[in-house]
Amino acid sequence: MKYPKIILNLIECFKQLPGIGEKTAERLALATLDMSQEQIDLFSSSLKDLKKKIKRCVNCNNLSDDDLCIICKDKSRNSKVLCVVEEPKNIILFEKLNIFDGYYHVLGGLISPIDGKNPEDINISSLINRVKKDKIEEIILALKPSVEGETTSLYISKILEDTKIKITKIAYGIPIGAEIDYVDSLTLEMALENRMDISTNRNS
Ligand SMILES: [Zn+2]
Repeated sequence: MKYPKIILNLIECFKQLPGIGEKTAERLALATLDMSQEQIDLFSSSLKDLKKKIKRCVNCNNLSDDDLCIICKDKSRNSKVLCVVEEPKNIILFEKLNIFDGYYHVLGGLISPIDGKNPEDINISSLINRVKKDKIEEIILALKPSVEGETTSLYISKILEDTKIKITKIAYGIPIGAEIDYVDSLTLEMALENRMDISTNRNS
């Protein structure tokens, strides 16, 4: 038996989401059918509003429903430190963990010459302008530990070479509890490069 066309369309829609295969899409479509009219209305209006009302913050390029995002609007944060991330979803993670109280800047990609992504294709010039305008004292580069992430970090630190701004990079290393044998070579290399000096802690 085949589903009616409307359900088939919905299954196709769900299948476009990452990680959703045929079976899951089918299950989601049928679960949607069981929702109340109120839930369905909220569901569909949220979907419609997503493209219409969600834009990028003019200051940091984060997702926002206003010109300035909620983080940029918050005046209680540390205005001297800027954390540079690749995507808005990285901000969500930092915020969920509540481990950073400065502001953010979303690059919207990483430099990758092989893929034709050059510095001017991502939000680097707005970062530099902002760093100077807002008198930022430290920028923390929190980019992916990959060739692209490293290239981008290096590029940004080169551009700001002549300024007094402190540039730091989050440390990459071996996950807590992991066996060294199972860590990939790039992670191990970075962990070695970012090794900690613990000699000050030794008993003398
Ligand atoms: Zn913002």
